[in-house]
Amino acid sequence: MPGHHCWGYGEDDGNNTPFNPFISVQLSLTVPSTFLPALTAARHHSTTVTFLHPTSLQPVTWHAWMTSCQGVTGGEGGPSEWYRYYPIAQGNRQSPINIVSGQAAFNSSLNPLVLSYDQCTSVNISNNGHSVVVEFEDYDDKTVISGGPLSNSYRLKQFHFHWGNQHGEGSEHTVDGKSYPCELHLVHWNAKAYATFGEAAGKPDGLAVIGIFLDTGGQHPGINRLTDALYMVKFKGTQAQFDNFNPKCLLPSSLEFWTYPGSLTTPPLNESVIWIVLKESIKVSEKQMDKFRKTLLFSGEEEGERMQMVNNFRPPQPLNGRKVQASFKG
Ligand SMILES: [Zn+2]
Repeated sequence: MPGHHCWGYGEDDGNNTPFNPFISVQLSLTVPSTFLPALTAARHHSTTVTFLHPTSLQPVTWHAWMTSCQGVTGGEGGPSEWYRYYPIAQGNRQSPINIVSGQAAFNSSLNPLVLSYDQCTSVNISNNGHSVVVEFEDYDDKTVISGGPLSNSYRLKQFHFHWGNQHGEGSEHTVDGKSYPCELHLVHWNAKAYATFGEAAGKPDGLAVIGIFLDTGGQHPGINRLTDALYMVKFKGTQAQFDNFNPKCLLPSSLEFWTYPGSLTTPPLNESVIWIVLKESIKVSEKQMDKFRKTLLFSGEEEGERMQMVNNFRPPQPLNGRKVQASFKG
């Protein structure tokens, strides 16, 4: 590729070349080493640019690089770059966080969490290029959560997952520095106060997300129907019918939780989420976990390079003085 683009970090080259802040490249110049002192000149000669995959750091083609970055990040660059387009990424109420269990304050006035999922109606399953999402009918209050830190009921809208490419990483929240292989997010919105999910997503009390850690252990019978459906939404942008799935089967036996005020963990990163992170994890088998890692792609069907959908998690963000409350005594 001709080397006249000023991609990457660094100073402006003065000619108003479009500056793409999200490209991290290794430049290998195909000029004789005697030219190396004149690197600025070399930019105007033929150069070889090696694109490194954002997570594996292996050299990949330009197209694979673009695809992988879109996949990991939704095309907005990696999590560490989101602030360039979404300044709120550096706000004081960002998620996820590392929960320090010893510093979480037991709050005896927190009510038990109540999940009224009996009448829930799942509609479809889809691959949005960041995760696999199951959506629910949410035109009335038949499926809501209440109690805990919530002052009224919140309607179930969708659930999705975050996971890694290996056992030691994948969850967004961590507990005392420990990552789980996967984290389920059940997303609810405040239909008592706001007219639509979109409106609620921009308000400080608009959303309530329940985070549930998935650890590996024995096979989880409840999740089989979901993992068996993943092949239908292998590619980004695909959707399939998925009715009669009740996420009640994905809840642990205890609903003890930590809670804190936070944000969406993907752009636009709105600080609109009351987080409720369950203490008890659920167990799925390594084989079930592998179905997430190996079936789904960040890429669309038309894209030549196929990127496995893995490592779709944001790392913990600064607490900035926020207090994490616990529904239980440590
Ligand atoms: Zn999520």
